[in-house]
Amino acid sequence: MKNISTPVQYLKGVGPKKAKLLNRLGINTVDDLLYFFPRRYEDRTKFLTISQLKEDETQTIKAKVLVRNQRQSWKRRGFSILEVVVGDNTGKIFCVWFNQPYLKEYFKVGQVVVLYGKIERYSGRLQMNSPEFEIVSEDNDTGPLDIGRIVPVYSLPEGITQRYFRKIIKKCLDENLSFIKDILSYEIRSKYNLLNCAKSFINIHFPESLELKKEAYRRLSFEEFFLFQIPVALRKLRKKEKPGLVHRVEGSLVGRFISSLPFKLTASQERVISEIKEDMASSRQMQRLLQGDVGSGKTVVATTAAIMAVQGRYQVAFMVPTEILARQHYDKIRPQTSDLRPQNKKINVALLTSSIKKQEKETIYQDIKEGKIDLVIGTHALLEESVKFKNLGLVVIDEQHKFGVAQRAVLPEKGPNPDMLIMTATPIPRTLAITLYGDLDISVITELPPNRKPVETRLATESESEAIYKFIRTKTEEGRQVYIIYPIIDESFELDLHAAVEMYETLKKDVFPDLRVGLIHGRLKTREQEKVMSEFIEGKINILVATTVLEVGVDVANASVMVIEHAERFGLSQLHQLRGRIGRGPYPSYCILITQPKTEEAKARIKAIAENSDGFRIAEEDLKIRGPGEFFGKRQHGLSELKIADPLTQLQLLKAARDEAIRLIKIDPALTQGQNSRIGEVLARRFPHYQEYITVG
Ligand code: ADP
Ligand code: MG
Repeated sequence: MKNISTPVQYLKGVGPKKAKLLNRLGINTVDDLLYFFPRRYEDRTKFLTISQLKEDETQTIKAKVLVRNQRQSWKRRGFSILEVVVGDNTGKIFCVWFNQPYLKEYFKVGQVVVLYGKIERYSGRLQMNSPEFEIVSEDNDTGPLDIGRIVPVYSLPEGITQRYFRKIIKKCLDENLSFIKDILSYEIRSKYNLLNCAKSFINIHFPESLELKKEAYRRLSFEEFFLFQIPVALRKLRKKEKPGLVHRVEGSLVGRFISSLPFKLTASQERVISEIKEDMASSRQMQRLLQGDVGSGKTVVATTAAIMAVQGRYQVAFMVPTEILARQHYDKIRPQTSDLRPQNKKINVALLTSSIKKQEKETIYQDIKEGKIDLVIGTHALLEESVKFKNLGLVVIDEQHKFGVAQRAVLPEKGPNPDMLIMTATPIPRTLAITLYGDLDISVITELPPNRKPVETRLATESESEAIYKFIRTKTEEGRQVYIIYPIIDESFELDLHAAVEMYETLKKDVFPDLRVGLIHGRLKTREQEKVMSEFIEGKINILVATTVLEVGVDVANASVMVIEHAERFGLSQLHQLRGRIGRGPYPSYCILITQPKTEEAKARIKAIAENSDGFRIAEEDLKIRGPGEFFGKRQHGLSELKIADPLTQLQLLKAARDEAIRLIKIDPALTQGQNSRIGEVLARRFPHYQEYITVG
């Protein structure tokens, strides 16, 4: 019996070879094919006469085949050219196809054809190059798919033509629509005025009108949001049931730590600390997302939480994405905490990264296991099997967007439902955050420490480098330090790296021979990275040429100038993160973006970064410019699995779908009652990783 999980191979017209190509697109079953939506549409409902055609525009005509001629190219051997002259009452035009000899069979003199393509001028005459076409004949039982209608255009690899793909989609619709069951109930459909599923599939692929296309889009987006929100709702439900540790938050240690700090906490920091405190004192597991712009002081907040846990003799794991950051946190936090002495014992802080020698690692593992280490700060190395805790009570994850969903889920498994504090400087607009992380509580640091001078951002071009060097010199003479950032998108790509190294050599030898210039990039051995970084922190290096390894966390208050080369190559949020490395101390700070943006998008990005300093505003701009898929990146969460729905433009629909998902889960959390079991099946098929989202941690 046929059903929607039938492999595409068994569709008529597909076969094993084409099936392989389709598989590579992620299309394995009939169902996948139905959900492979067009990338865009072309309205080919309007025909023009040949005399109305305009050069350089893509247009549709209906005309009669007058001449057909296939010839070999005299320029390239074995290269065939098919020329067809078509005409109507107003004129004639050449249509040309290259190296597709089989096309010849389609055209017979006297036949009427509809053609769609770009009109170009070639040796003085207008012609259509490789137009799409449809032979208009009376006995065409499928009806024209490519012409005279709103035509879907799909993202397809070489080897699959639009024409062919439309045909199999059509076939698939014809053969399967009658037995697909709608996963949205009649009640939901009528409540929100949604098309049924058959009608939506037809109109998303072959819209009968623009209006119906819009309705199909709305219905399918709703469905997608609905499915997507089920795991979130499930997790929210489960969390309520999950017991947590009750931490002893009232003790002298926290107070002592805070009063030992060289600054006063901001009101925002105090507020989020009390939110965290309440969570940690309660008997339910804390799952809190702490958002705060770069430089807003998240680290002290996390350290305060860590001390609350340690105070009650629980262990803390503090995970960060890079070695540099791990070391920096370790160097800062260890002296801050070691003198606090709970119950007259030292707070033991350890550093665990993958570059630590094996033997030393073994000792650390042992100490963690025996509970001798109270707070361990580390990288992914913390996730290793051998890291076992005696009494893990709090997990802190810094720069959470740098970790995958699965990675974030590992640490909490190492303790008895430890509390979780997840930190991010990539601000997610609140409305979106609630719907995406509906299962996490959110705290936001809304202000920067008061001593900060805003960073002044200036734009410059390559030709102004002399002036920039002079400026750098002045600042180093005042005692400040400087970052020069070079864009390296892929650090394993030699050529990019080469450019950064070359720039470093020039600066060191020719421009600033009297100053100390350092270089840091992701391909240096960890030990060397650490050496360079600590020299910079100690002020021994005046100018640091760096790649995006600097993007996260690095905190050197004396650095007050950042020059970013080829700024247009960076994403907006990335620029904001980088710029956040300066303006951390009392000095006026300057960010100089060297750039000549060419595309409109690049211009918009540069303008946004130059005009805004608030990370939330910038994130919103970034979202607008790049769309959520790009913005959040593949690893972030289920967003990248949304094929059609767009949380930014369809927020209302998302909210409605979310309400329905919650309603469903309240009644039938196991999705077993009646029709609901089908939702469970579809969920597993459409969101194969949804189990992971349930355990976002
Ligand atoms: P981020 O939120 O980007 O992780 P950090 O925690 O690295 O920021 O803090 C940035 C700098 O600000 C650090 O040097 C930190 O010591 C300092 N800082 C944190 N809180 C305050 C405050 N309330 N007043 C002054 N400086 C602060
Ligand atoms: Mg930080």
